[in-house]
Order: sequence, then structure tokens, then C-alpha cells
Amino acid sequence: MNHSDSERIATVLGNNGLKAASNINEADFVIFNTCGVRQMAEDRVYGQVHNLAARNPKPVTIVTGCLAARKDVQRRLKNKVDLFCEIKDFPKKIKKLVIPSKVEGSTIKKLDSSTPPPSGGFAQDNRDYLKIIPKYKNGFQAYVPIMTGCNNFCSYCVVPYARGREISRPAEEIIMEVKNLVKKGYKEIVLLGQNVNSYKDHGSLSPSPLSWRRWRNAPDEGKTTNFSQLLKKVNAIAGHFWISFISNHPKDVTDEMIQAVAKLPKVCECFHLPVQSGNDEIIKKMNRRYTAKQYLNLIKKIKSAYKKYKPDKLFSITSDMIVGFPGETKKQFMDSAEVMKKAKYDMVFFGQYSPRPGTTAWKMKNNVSKKEKARREKYLNEILKKTAFKSNKKYIGKTLEVLIESKKGNFYFGKTRTMKNVKIVKVHPVESSQSEDAMGVFNRVKITKANTWNLEGIRTK
Ligand code: SF4
Repeated sequence: MNHSDSERIATVLGNNGLKAASNINEADFVIFNTCGVRQMAEDRVYGQVHNLAARNPKPVTIVTGCLAARKDVQRRLKNKVDLFCEIKDFPKKIKKLVIPSKVEGSTIKKLDSSTPPPSGGFAQDNRDYLKIIPKYKNGFQAYVPIMTGCNNFCSYCVVPYARGREISRPAEEIIMEVKNLVKKGYKEIVLLGQNVNSYKDHGSLSPSPLSWRRWRNAPDEGKTTNFSQLLKKVNAIAGHFWISFISNHPKDVTDEMIQAVAKLPKVCECFHLPVQSGNDEIIKKMNRRYTAKQYLNLIKKIKSAYKKYKPDKLFSITSDMIVGFPGETKKQFMDSAEVMKKAKYDMVFFGQYSPRPGTTAWKMKNNVSKKEKARREKYLNEILKKTAFKSNKKYIGKTLEVLIESKKGNFYFGKTRTMKNVKIVKVHPVESSQSEDAMGVFNRVKITKANTWNLEGIRTK
């Protein structure tokens, strides 16, 4: 989501005549689009802002993203930062910024917003910010936010405080953006949101800050689009492209969604379902609202649907796991290990618990030592290595569609529809045959070798 937000920031600045500096030391403007999920990310911002403040002249320094609204961060960086602003306010607030003398002397007198003027309250502003058409990270992969914010208040997470409540983007607007991207030749569309599977567009009904709960629970008037229906609409757009989506909350996964994901031909066969812990008491303390048994039952349903509807039966299940949550005993931790063995993940993103100011878990005793957290992560990683390798071995001998993403030396690197990384020896140049550039092109690749974290193969076309 932060990558996608940065693309929007780049658009606003670019539309006002600013160009990206080749490195931070040459920049007149430095914008930190911050992440507050872990302390480490936060500490890097402090370090870099302090370094900039020592420069003469000091560049205009802006802090946006998760840390921008935190009072303790504002106090700590007082006099060093020119503007703290929430991401949704960025286009508006940037207008009021004093332009440094270096820029004032040039043709740029004042930054301006490229967004349409807000037409409503808080929620409407959020939607306006999402209307900015960003400069995408490359010419073939695009992040398309479908919603922002979160209502779940997991006890360790800052997102609901940093981004506010859930707001879904109108389906029509999303479809329009994807259609344009596909027309331009984009091959992978990533539908983004903190909790994509709670997506709900009520058509003409508008949310407001006071009525979001009523709005979210409003009855279906025949115009409502939920996440499964949105997937169907995006899938119906003509063209050869992949659809993927992140992230999901287990409590919002419905049978309708599982069926849609498994049946729709353009939706990639990779389901990311964060579990965070395998112990019911810890899951409860995390305020996640499911049990390990319910979670594993969902995994079972997802796997059966993929096996039923996907002819080659290849799919990936990935997850997020926190180790060392306050009070997590060794016995409780072993329940996480048990879930990992049963779910047989293809990939898991581990996080050693890091207390975040303002969250409910901040007040809990962070009593698992750093060393023990590292040990627990390593233990789970060993389980992951085995399940990932076993899953990768199923690919040997299969010929699959691979999207080429990069080149290093004589090798190209791409990924399968199941989000497995592939190292390729020979690549078909391009569909257009105009250029030798193979980036962003689908290739048929025969998998010849499976490693723990990737596959190897040769181009067959
Ligand atoms: S679902 Fe939980 S972890 Fe995910 S963004 Fe919302 S509060 Fe954070």
C-alpha cells in the first residue's frame, strides 16, 4: 500500500513540475512515506530526518504515511520536519508548503494539487486521494487500491489509527482504471487494500465519518458490489492479464469469495491468508476473531476449490505470522508451529513482535526476549523451508506461463501465476518483436529444477 501511495505522491509532484532527484543528497524536497508497523522502520526515519536537518541548506522535509499523525513522532522531529500530513491530505496540504529558495527562483512558484476538489467530508477526501492516477512502478505491473483503512483493530496494529476506517472505492472507478491499464499493455493488476475481502461498494450511498458502521452494514439494494463481485467485474475486462490481491482477513473470507478466486481464469492461484498465531488464546489477545480450527478449515476449503477448478492443481497458500506476542509461552508458540505444519505454506512473512504506541498490545508486557523471538522465527522458518520445497517439487516438468520481471547477467527472472519466482535461461524477446526488451512479457517456461525459495526453467517458446 505504501508503494502505491508513493506512486500517487510522485504523480502530484510530477504534475507540478518537480523531477525525482538521483539521490537524497541532491533533493530540495524529501518526502518520507513512513511505515509504522515495526520499530526498525520507524528508527530509520528518525536517523534520516536528523541527517537531513544537519544539511545546509536543509531540504524541505515532509513526513507522511503511518507516523505522520503520531504526536510523539511530531514532538521528536519538531523543527526538523516542515510538514506532517496524512496521506489522504497530501495533495491538499502540499499547496500550502513554502517552496525553498532554490525552487522559488525557477519556474515553479507553487506546488498545486492534481486531484479534483473534495466534494464531501472525511470519507470523500479519502476517495479523492485514491482518484489520483499514479505513475505506476513499471509498464507491466500496477497496484490498484480498491479500499483503504481498516475497522479490525488487531491489538498489535497501527493501521486503523494511521489510516482511519475502511473506505471502499467505487467499483466503476476501479474498473475504469484497470481497463485503461490493460489497454496500455499492463500484465499484472494487483488489487490492494488493508482488508480487500471486506470491500463493499454501495453504489450511490456515501459513507461519512459518523455513519461508516451503518454504511458498511447497509442492506444490499441491488447495486452493492462485494469483493467477489468486484473480482468478477475485473475478470470480465477483455485482454490477457493476471489479477492478484492483497491482503485478506480470515474472518471475512466467504464461500462465495473462495469460489470466485478458484474459478475466475484471470485471478492468480495464490491465496494470502494471514494467520498471525496458531494459538487460540493469543489469537484472541490479538483481537483477530477466529480460532486456529476455523482458520485451518478455511485453508482446507481454499485448497479443495483450487483442486476442483484448476486443471494443473498448482496453487500457493501464503501467510503472515507474528512470533513473541506479549505473553506467548513456548507451548502456545508450538501451536503456531502446528498450524504451519498443517497449512503447508508456500511462503510465510514472519514478524518478531514489536510494540506499537497507541495500540492495545502496547500496554501488554512485551515479555518474550529478542533472542527467544529470533529462535522462534528460525524454528518456524525451518518448517516453511520443508513445505515450500515440497510444493516447489510439484512444478518439475510442467510448462507454465511466467511473467518476466528482471534480468541479471545471462538470466531472466520472472514469476508464475502462483507467485513462485523462476530463474530462466532463455527468454522469448517480446510479443511485438520491436524490441529485445523482454520485461513484462509472458513466456512459456518448462520448469527443470526446484529449490527451496525458487524454481528454475527454460523457455519453450
Ligand atoms: S486487519 Fe488487523 S493487522 Fe490488518 S490492517 Fe487491519 S488492524 Fe492491521
